[in-house]
Amino acid sequence: MFNAKAYSAASATSPLASTTIPRRDPTEQDVQIEILFCGICHSDLHQVRNEWSGIMPTVYPIVPGHEIVGRVTRVGSAVTKYKRGDLAAVGCMVDSDGTCPQCQAGLEQFCPNMTLTFNSPDKHLGGVTYGGYSDSVVVDERFVLRVPSNLNLAGVAPLLCAGITTYSPMRHWGVTKGKKVGVVGLGGLGHMGVKFAHALGAHVVVFTTSPNKKEDALRLGADEVAVSRNADEMKKHAGSFNFILDTISADHDINAYLNLLGRDGNLTLVGAPEKPFAVSAFGLLFGRRSLSGSIIGGIPETQEMLDFCGARNITADVEVIPIQRVNEAYERLLKSDVKYRFSIDMASLKSV
Ligand SMILES: [Zn+2]
Ligand SMILES: [Zn+2]
Repeated sequence: MFNAKAYSAASATSPLASTTIPRRDPTEQDVQIEILFCGICHSDLHQVRNEWSGIMPTVYPIVPGHEIVGRVTRVGSAVTKYKRGDLAAVGCMVDSDGTCPQCQAGLEQFCPNMTLTFNSPDKHLGGVTYGGYSDSVVVDERFVLRVPSNLNLAGVAPLLCAGITTYSPMRHWGVTKGKKVGVVGLGGLGHMGVKFAHALGAHVVVFTTSPNKKEDALRLGADEVAVSRNADEMKKHAGSFNFILDTISADHDINAYLNLLGRDGNLTLVGAPEKPFAVSAFGLLFGRRSLSGSIIGGIPETQEMLDFCGARNITADVEVIPIQRVNEAYERLLKSDVKYRFSIDMASLKSV
């Protein structure tokens, strides 16, 4: 074992603060990574504050962070895909059983024995896994991703959660040239959804409650912007979409969007509102429409997404902060006061 610098929260009401955590020495299959940037995902905040206690109660102290990019510093003797000095990334998962049908299909995110990057039972050291708000991490090479060398690393970090979360359903539902795609909400997830839908060749319409986001939506790659509170603007698009990506985590009227789908159109949820939706069956019956959900993506598809980003020069729009400002960033996140993701410059941890 060795000690790593990190930021952790001691309880649901404590701020994140500087600490030291144990990391395992790399086993034969492990890659040790010096973390350069870590994105701040809304689920970091949810779990730091134990807001998902019903499904995954937080074990304290918690070190969040699952949008990790860095450089390989050490590899185990059996590691074949990475060497010291390589750029590398880690997303929301660090292990799975590798044998179940989900793993065999490259869909490790659905493996019943999957290990999350933080707050998940740690098979090696006991306790729970510690995430990316740290100067280093040790991960099985099967869960390490290659990073294209041409991309801005601060903007790469959010691809590991916000990126794959929006890319995966678009690939699954066949977003390509000639398709009409809606993106509901223009936050951390939504802004990546717009970039991917545009890069995949679709005609992209952004739905937002804030008319002042229009210019930004167009800059990010939208072809049109509709203000969802404006009934006329919504009506204009009735029955016309092949696919709608709904990124909203707050309560909202999903039927208004189902009615915008064309025949066999699909609406996929990637946000998770607390309150159950009231879905009108008629909205689905007419047009054989479907409503589904999606969560991150498997390791092969995450690599495909990163390679796609490298080829098309796509990164997240980030505000880079030192880790000392992480608590302030959480408060701003609650007000959606960030364009569009915070990325922590982990060099700031050296001065702690
Ligand atoms: Zn996330
Ligand atoms: Zn499995």
